[in-house]
Amino acid sequence: LAMSSVSVPPPKCLQKTFVAPRRHMFGPGPSNVPPRILAAGAEPVIGHMHPEMLEIMSDIKSGIQYAFQTENNMTIAVSGTGHTAMECAIFNAVEPGEGVLTAVNGIWGERAAEMAERIGAKVNSIVTTAGGYFTSEEIDQALAKHKPVLFFLTHGESSTGVVHPLDGIGDICHKHNCLFLVDCVASMGGAPLYMDKQGIDILYSGSQKVLNAPPGTAPISFSERKCKNNYKNTCWNTYFLLLSMSFFLDMTWLANYWGCDGKPARIYHHTAPVSAFYALRESLAILAEQGLENSWQRHREVAEYLHEGVENMGLKLFVKDKNARLPTVTTIVAPPGYDWKEITSYIMKNHNLEISGGLGPSVGQVLRVGLMGGNSSKASVDMVLEALRDALRYCHKSKV
Ligand code: PMP
Repeated sequence: LAMSSVSVPPPKCLQKTFVAPRRHMFGPGPSNVPPRILAAGAEPVIGHMHPEMLEIMSDIKSGIQYAFQTENNMTIAVSGTGHTAMECAIFNAVEPGEGVLTAVNGIWGERAAEMAERIGAKVNSIVTTAGGYFTSEEIDQALAKHKPVLFFLTHGESSTGVVHPLDGIGDICHKHNCLFLVDCVASMGGAPLYMDKQGIDILYSGSQKVLNAPPGTAPISFSERKCKNNYKNTCWNTYFLLLSMSFFLDMTWLANYWGCDGKPARIYHHTAPVSAFYALRESLAILAEQGLENSWQRHREVAEYLHEGVENMGLKLFVKDKNARLPTVTTIVAPPGYDWKEITSYIMKNHNLEISGGLGPSVGQVLRVGLMGGNSSKASVDMVLEALRDALRYCHKSKV
């Protein structure tokens, strides 16, 4: 057979021009990307080590420091989704054999536990029902019992719709010589969060929720305490006694690429997703323009407006404690007698609008409505309520 003859023909499907559907993205993410951010992402690609790119990365770093309310030098965006940042956090903080404690009140604590287990950590979890959260006493007692080096907590539990209180937990962790790791993928920009003041040692987020950037980049920051690592005497500047299990996510390398290690030369580590960084920079610029506090307040007010509308329709909110309701993602008790899948499909088909069902422990129990960043408006709420009303009218109600 001639080497020049291809046996796999060009696929017919690729001859069709692709146009993405226009859709209201009111599920738990990704959210709609506004034209200004799409336009930034469509700028010409430059090199990942070009000086202009390094400047963009420096702008992104400042934007993340603002969004996280931190002065941490070790603040970057990882190339990848929220899961990539989760692994980056865990892989750079834990070695095989060390103890990790995860707080499980939804799927994210379960995922964090699995990641830590895969690198050979000794993992324990505290577990509460979907829709619940932990008291400081419960956390204190579990830390005293298990003595982990790292404690994982989700700020915005997008699978259950709970925003976890954070005040005081950092101090409790430090009392037990434990680092405090927080997931704010679904809450950053939508609910108050103060990395430095709340004693958070590692914090990560995602680009596709309140920031309204495309999925694929994930802010992350490590505290000075973590970097100096009072507890294990390992430090990036001394080249990590702790050797990350992942080359790609090794903060020794990433810190250099992001100019955080004080070294004059930047060394190629990977080709950054240039266009995604343009978009991320623009999304952080928008958040900075609007102001964090305004953004927090708007998300709260819009969520409360949604809660009121949902209850007025005779539906129930899944999270009973008002203060624990996550302003970005609202969980509604799946309407009794209906098949939740029929509701979400009906709304997608007839209203061109995404809301979703549950995830992990909340599957079958809830509908989830995410209104994040530019989607957080009363006009969006009105659209969601109208779609829900319509679905309840036309979807099949079982007679049992
Ligand atoms: N943590 C939370 C709280 C999330 O809501 C999500 C995304 N749904 C993730 C982590 C994972 O992010 P990604 O899907 O971008 O990997």
